[in-house]
Amino acid sequence: MTENKIIYACTKHIEVAIDDYVNFEEKAPQMKSVTDEHKKCTYCNERAQYMLLP
Ligand SMILES: [Zn+2]
Repeated sequence: MTENKIIYACTKHIEVAIDDYVNFEEKAPQMKSVTDEHKKCTYCNERAQYMLLP
């Protein structure tokens, strides 16, 4: 794992996204709001409201 993984999530999937992130990276992510309305949730096609990054 060399690249940082960024996960985008809608409000429905934010909890799943955090779980995935922690499982994958073994640490807690920073959560930021997404202002770009073209970003889609990683888990569905809703507009992403949050992004998780290192
Ligand atoms: Zn979603």
